[in-house]
Amino acid sequence: MSWLDAARAIPASAVVASLGMTVSHRKYVGPCRGCGATQRSSKDKRPPMLYDKGGHALKCFACGMHFSGLWLAACAVFGRPPQAGDDWSSVRAWLVGESLLEGEGERITLKAMDLAPTIEDIPPPPVYQVASLLRSCVQPCEDEEVGAYLALRGIPLSAPCGALPRLDVYPEWWPWGRDYPLLVGGYDTQGNLRSCHARTIYKHPIGKTRWPRGYAAGWLFLDPVKARPMLQRKDHNVSAVLICEGLTDYLAASCAAASDPSLAVIGGASGSWRTLVGAAIPSHAVIFIATDQDAVGERYAREISDALAGYQLRRIDLSQFATTNEDHHHVVA
Ligand SMILES: [Zn+2]
Repeated sequence: MSWLDAARAIPASAVVASLGMTVSHRKYVGPCRGCGATQRSSKDKRPPMLYDKGGHALKCFACGMHFSGLWLAACAVFGRPPQAGDDWSSVRAWLVGESLLEGEGERITLKAMDLAPTIEDIPPPPVYQVASLLRSCVQPCEDEEVGAYLALRGIPLSAPCGALPRLDVYPEWWPWGRDYPLLVGGYDTQGNLRSCHARTIYKHPIGKTRWPRGYAAGWLFLDPVKARPMLQRKDHNVSAVLICEGLTDYLAASCAAASDPSLAVIGGASGSWRTLVGAAIPSHAVIFIATDQDAVGERYAREISDALAGYQLRRIDLSQFATTNEDHHHVVA
């Protein structure tokens, strides 16, 4: 048995105990080590993660991700969900140090994508498969339902998103079919595609957003004309960056900013903001933070200003199109 097989058998409850995470009613655990959520949703205050029967694995109700003990340990060691190229020997060393794993042996670097984080043990797809799903999308104007959803929200059909095609069979890692038909790419700070983010256009019992099974939530949405080239260091004209919370605000803002070559738009959701650390945003750029004016929006604004400390930061309220930069004590105006 390899150390990895042995590590996969470690129950999540053992890792939770080692990490000293908060457990209430013997089954609710928080905060989520994958997305950072401290509660299930803005309305449901319970800790976000729940044990399965026997405590072998955890599910997070905020990001939908399943955690084996190994995956939870990896999130703790790396400070974020694992990525391809991570050196897993540090995870192994941590497990050995916590007496959760025995032994000496081979030093190992794995592709994170080789590891199955879900309790169902379905391996996450390689990112090129996600890219091909995104490429298969049609323009919003070519899809009546997605087009109507955008139009109802005043979002132009030229918005940088796609509509999932109607397929007879969807990939194994995309079990939601057309339930979440509005798609954008999820990118890292270098502008590399890491995942996709999908949105339902009707009320959905399991939540309004999804991403490929086995993947973590929390990558960035990047306007393809300015934000992505900026992070790839190909566009040097950007002097202002607007950061919005949620997919629809991101899409609306991207369209509104389309005529201004100096204004890049970045969007994100729970767990996205820490990935902003080290982003190739020009040092002279002004960052406009446009998260919602509620408790979650405040937390996001704090996470964004922490990640982008050193930049000129302004808080703005998109709902009123007015600047309210004095209302946030963490933001240096
Ligand atoms: Zn989570």
